[in-house]
Amino acid sequence: MTPQTALDSDTLSQPGNVGQWAWRPADWLDAAPFVFCHVALLGVFWSGVTVESLLLGLGLFLLRAWGVTAGYHRYFSHRSYQTSRVFQFILALLAQSSAQKGVLWWAAHHRVHHRRSDMPGDVHSPVQRGFWYAHVGWIFDGTEATRWEQIPDFARYPELRLLNRYPLTPAVGLALLCFLWMGWPGLFVGFFASTVACWHNTFLVNSLAHVWGSRRFATADQSRNNFWIALSTLGEGWHNNHHHYPGSCRNGFYWWEIDVTWYLLLLLERCGIVWNLREPPARVLALGRGA
Ligand SMILES: [Zn+2]
Ligand SMILES: [Zn+2]
Repeated sequence: MTPQTALDSDTLSQPGNVGQWAWRPADWLDAAPFVFCHVALLGVFWSGVTVESLLLGLGLFLLRAWGVTAGYHRYFSHRSYQTSRVFQFILALLAQSSAQKGVLWWAAHHRVHHRRSDMPGDVHSPVQRGFWYAHVGWIFDGTEATRWEQIPDFARYPELRLLNRYPLTPAVGLALLCFLWMGWPGLFVGFFASTVACWHNTFLVNSLAHVWGSRRFATADQSRNNFWIALSTLGEGWHNNHHHYPGSCRNGFYWWEIDVTWYLLLLLERCGIVWNLREPPARVLALGRGA
């Protein structure tokens, strides 16, 4: 059996990737925290907004957006750099404080997205099932289980399996800290508003970055490069670059493609915290320049 057919049978056995929306009550129960946080946004009208809570929300948005891109995505999904086991755990903890499910769940689902990108079996493709399904609909469609067969490399770490088993624990802990620090505005503005903003910012890469923007590389999918999404997602908007060469630690391939995640990883490399940052080879850069 070839790796591709193995993936096909694995993927097709997942109910979330065949057929249409199933609307199963159990799936809606799985998505309850997602719905709850959106409803909790209404609490802002009751708690009020303070300057401190706004700054807290902005800080937590940026910090966790970085955790998503540098942790869930560039490290756990693509192994585009290396680090110590301790910092690996810190990355997982930070990423999961964004409440985007377990670290092994996230990386495994993302690996399927790359292998099936915009084809049947893609977890979230605007080409296959429309913009809103790619943005949020798939969350309600039986995607709760971790695809262990996709992530054997990191599943061997017991501390990551433990975190993955209790996916919301870091986020709940963070919410509690926000409340203890700044009271109700800290909880509703600092935590809930920034969490929901961070979700939709991440989801833009699944939905809009496969629809809106330019295509430098003729990839088999519809991935795009988009300056605005790259700004808001700290570099993930160079999505066509990324689909062409996903092993690269930098998504902005050239100096003018702003990639904040990459800049911070370079800083951490200077400090000796991460190493072996992979960059696109010269042939890929030359192809991108049209040379
Ligand atoms: Zn993509
Ligand atoms: Zn990726």
